[in-house]
Amino acid sequence: MARYIGSVCKLCRREGMKLFLKAERCYTDKCGVTRRSYPPGQHGQARIKQSEYSLQLREKQKIRRVYGVLERQFRGYFEKAERMKGVTGDNLLQLLERRLDNIVQRMGFAGAKKEARQLVRHGHLLVNGKKVNIPSYLVKAGDVVELREKSRGIVQIQQTLAAVEKRGFPSWLEIDKTQFKGKVLSLPARDESTLPTVKEQLVVELYSK
Ligand code: SF4
Repeated sequence: MARYIGSVCKLCRREGMKLFLKAERCYTDKCGVTRRSYPPGQHGQARIKQSEYSLQLREKQKIRRVYGVLERQFRGYFEKAERMKGVTGDNLLQLLERRLDNIVQRMGFAGAKKEARQLVRHGHLLVNGKKVNIPSYLVKAGDVVELREKSRGIVQIQQTLAAVEKRGFPSWLEIDKTQFKGKVLSLPARDESTLPTVKEQLVVELYSK
């Protein structure tokens, strides 16, 4: 499956909730879900009875879309989560939350996952002092993620950081705004993930068929 290049707002409308796939626009009245709170397409406003399978599929798609991972990668995360100790659904969300592109976004260096991924790919980030350009890199508790010194003057990053700071940083990250640096204090608990309301158990059921 190729990477999706269509309108990301349609993805939110399909899922019936904000997935925050754009930066500041998601917090304004221009948000697609705020303006048209029904699924896209000709039959978007039709009443459709949801089967058990479609409910499970929608939960899986929500998670996959928020973290911007392809189906095969997502399956890989699920299999890894299954092999870990603890609850598979919680493990799955924690693995996705630990991705470097997600951490970069949650630290406020990028407004959207796409931007975060680009920053990582272009070598703007250091993890524990070493350049890492792999968006799927999994950070650990205690890791320090920082913006390379040369990249700290980028105005867009400064503006995004200020906007994210106003909304508040997650409690499991310690951010030093002046040094463009953040420390992962602990791995995020279930209720600290980006998607606190998602029903990850339905994904487990979907993949366990
Ligand atoms: Fe989703 Fe953001 Fe578009 Fe709103 S503005 S529909 S939250 S991507």
